[in-house]
Amino acid sequence: MPRPAKIKKNNNKKEKEAVPAKKRKSFSRLRGMKDVLFDEYRYWDLVKSKAIDLARTYGFKRLDTPILEPADMYERTTGETSDIVTKEMYAFVDKGGEKVALRPEATPSLVRAYIEHGMFNFPQPIKMLWLGPLFRHDKPQAGRYRQFSQIDLEMFGEESPVADAQLILLAYNFFKELQIDVQVQINSIGCKECRKEYSNKLIAFYKERGKRAKLCPDCNKRLAKNPLRLLDCKEEKCVEVRTDAPQIVDYLCDDCKNHFTKVLEYLDELDIPYNLNTYLVRGLDYYTRTVFEIWPMDGEESRQTALGAGGRYDDLVEFMGGRPTPACGFALGVERVISKVKEKNIPLKQEDENVIFIAQLGDQARRKVFGLFEELRRSGFNVRQAFTKDSLKAQLEEANRVGAKFSLILGQKEILDGTMLIRDMESGIQEVIDYKKIRQELEKRLNNENKK
Ligand code: ATP
Ligand code: MG
Repeated sequence: MPRPAKIKKNNNKKEKEAVPAKKRKSFSRLRGMKDVLFDEYRYWDLVKSKAIDLARTYGFKRLDTPILEPADMYERTTGETSDIVTKEMYAFVDKGGEKVALRPEATPSLVRAYIEHGMFNFPQPIKMLWLGPLFRHDKPQAGRYRQFSQIDLEMFGEESPVADAQLILLAYNFFKELQIDVQVQINSIGCKECRKEYSNKLIAFYKERGKRAKLCPDCNKRLAKNPLRLLDCKEEKCVEVRTDAPQIVDYLCDDCKNHFTKVLEYLDELDIPYNLNTYLVRGLDYYTRTVFEIWPMDGEESRQTALGAGGRYDDLVEFMGGRPTPACGFALGVERVISKVKEKNIPLKQEDENVIFIAQLGDQARRKVFGLFEELRRSGFNVRQAFTKDSLKAQLEEANRVGAKFSLILGQKEILDGTMLIRDMESGIQEVIDYKKIRQELEKRLNNENKK
């Protein structure tokens, strides 16, 4: 085909220079955001399908919620003093003048959905499985992105410590099946009542002479508004000061203490190793009683790279306008889990198992194999092709690249004979087979292969 004159004209140097430099600018992703490319996606599939399978066996059902939600929903629930709301939320006023936010976490949306759809009328507990992207203007670094994904499991309407233990068991099994060694860090932060006394003790402790000066500016501010958060601070100096801080487990009321003891007993029963971590308080406002984090076993900075976290939030449904409903849940950070899976070199499911490549020579053959390709694909064969290529050499190179076991080759001669060539890609041996018996021949050969 002759090249159209217009294209030639565009290649003209003068024309090119006429395009303003600004328009030719290429674009990059925003900081802290990433593309998930082809090979990487196999890890996503593995992690997601593992979570989905496991959650289903425990009776969790999947649901989705919008990415945009009212910003004040997070201000009121996640907490006005939380890092998420004060520093990390992508919030803006939309064209209708409404203040909205890209969801920074899933739980408030799930509670909203529970209330909005009257789920308290359904048989309890309601067990939710949620997967999706979240947005936080975090400081980008290894394992910390501004768009990241979580797998969330939440259980509504169950106050029993069995629920807490079952969630932890689920998280633990998830990692075990991915061959990732984890440690469960667990604590109880009590209820509104017992926390009050503890908070006062904690404030008194931090106000002791010389301590405040050592704290980071954030913790100095937190002391008045949310003293428990001081225990959670990752700044080295603050970690040092907290060493002798009073421990919340010593201040739990009888009900909270009982509940927590039972959770730990179940964990013992289930042989789940845990570490009672009295500094664990979680950064969000709504937690009550059990809080936990899943840390990788290895890695010096395990705390910095928590793989997941969760806890109980018995007051949140009522706080958000629903009926009083106990609830608990946890979230796993998909990117961090994937980076662990990669470290462990866990074998991925072969997508390219038993690949059959179909090659053709000439227009007539190409037309014929189009149909054959569809027919084999529909019968469940893992077929590949490169019908846009003309040369057999290029096609066989592609067959090798996709890891084909066999290639089927159709040329002019084979069309006339009613045959096709089958080539064993490993040995290079080619044989002629009856075109009508291709399926049987493939089945036979793949069966023999898989028995090897
Ligand atoms: P961190 O202390 O690491 O900031 P967090 O307490 O803010 O974590 P949660 O809100 O509990 O995190 O979220 C649960 C999980 O989501 C974390 O354990 C982590 O695996 C993952 N996660 C949180 N923030 C990010 C992020 N910015 N990028 C990637 N994963 C994240
Ligand atoms: Mg954070």
